Amino acid sequence: MLYDFIIDTMHTLFKNGLTLSSLGAVVFLILKQRKMKAQLRKFLPWMFQDDNEIKAYMANQIVIMRNQEIIMRGMGLEPWTATISSEKPQATASLSSRFYLSSWAITTYAQLANKYTIRRYSKMAKKRIVIDAGHGNQDPGAIGPTGKKEKDFNLTMAIKLDALLKGNPNLQVSLTRRTDVFLELKERVSVANKMPADLFISIHANAASSSANGTETFYNRTTSAPLAGVIQRHMLAATGFKDRGARYGNFAVIRDTKMDAVLLEVGFISNPEEEKKLFQDDFQNRVALAVAQGICEYLGVPFDVQAPTVPGQEPVKVTPYPEMSVTVHTAAGSTYTGYNVKGTTWVPSRPIGELIGGRIGYTKGKVTINGEAVETMNIDGVGYVTARDLTKLLDARIFWDKTTPSRVEIYPKN
Ligand SMILES: [Zn+2]
Repeated sequence: MLYDFIIDTMHTLFKNGLTLSSLGAVVFLILKQRKMKAQLRKFLPWMFQDDNEIKAYMANQIVIMRNQEIIMRGMGLEPWTATISSEKPQATASLSSRFYLSSWAITTYAQLANKYTIRRYSKMAKKRIVIDAGHGNQDPGAIGPTGKKEKDFNLTMAIKLDALLKGNPNLQVSLTRRTDVFLELKERVSVANKMPADLFISIHANAASSSANGTETFYNRTTSAPLAGVIQRHMLAATGFKDRGARYGNFAVIRDTKMDAVLLEVGFISNPEEEKKLFQDDFQNRVALAVAQGICEYLGVPFDVQAPTVPGQEPVKVTPYPEMSVTVHTAAGSTYTGYNVKGTTWVPSRPIGELIGGRIGYTKGKVTINGEAVETMNIDGVGYVTARDLTKLLDARIFWDKTTPSRVEIYPKN
């Protein structure tokens, strides 16, 4: 249909006189037909702008459409001078040319408006995320004290994150690499920019001296800082590492990408303790879950975890926080799983509380210990309380193992 239109327009133009601007209109149509986006970008950069800008632009266009003349001028066309002919039928020819060009402009605008609406709706339906596993193949990234390679950690994390997000109907997830291959930084950038993605997440592990430690999230453009803040908050809870903050960093993949982009340094592979954790399955699952939650929170889409499964294997176990091993020293002593939430140890209230002789109840969403309501957290339907509240109210003693911070010992009063 558009071809017919082009031929029609060409015919009219040749019949009635050709100007540079009307030729421009034909070139535009041909380019549009061939989907030569790069050229279109030059002529109509607003076509490639952010949603809000398009929205504002299109709202403006609706007003403008009421006046064909302004539309044409807006397109850089001067249909009113579209004839250079001095022959007699000039008046009608000019009218005809005017009709074709202005109707073309209206049709084109209507089509564009429709396209943006479709694009907006499809964007609403699916947010595009590019996950970039840093390094690869001949570039191992940093290497830990036991010889573990950063590229392997990055790739495993990217695949786990993809597994958590790909079933989400609101998201479309792409990975820059799924195997141990090498990609130039600019290739990673171009994958995201060409799409164009709504979000770019590059996964890395840090390296410095063996004592350096902690989690940090980098952004380059200030518009990416809120995303970095959200991801950092989620990652911290999952790693239990030191908070190095959401910070500015001048890395190509987050500088040259056009969408909100962050680079995660989950932990220090150069630190023996963090290296060990970075390669633990449970740690990786927890961090992947946290990053997935952060992404969904930032994009404002419901988080719907699809526990990733590998045929023939147990579903991947995902825990929301770093686990603590809580041993209660009674005759019938037992070990429970607690959680480290931002440096505070949370323990399951009922089994431990009752084991050490307490009365555990529940009122208005809070656990009561010997009748006193305490701060409560519901994890998978189980009421958790802080180890400090529990032991204080039940007069028990509590010790955190200095060499293994994930171990806690509780001794009841005789
Ligand atoms: Zn790296």
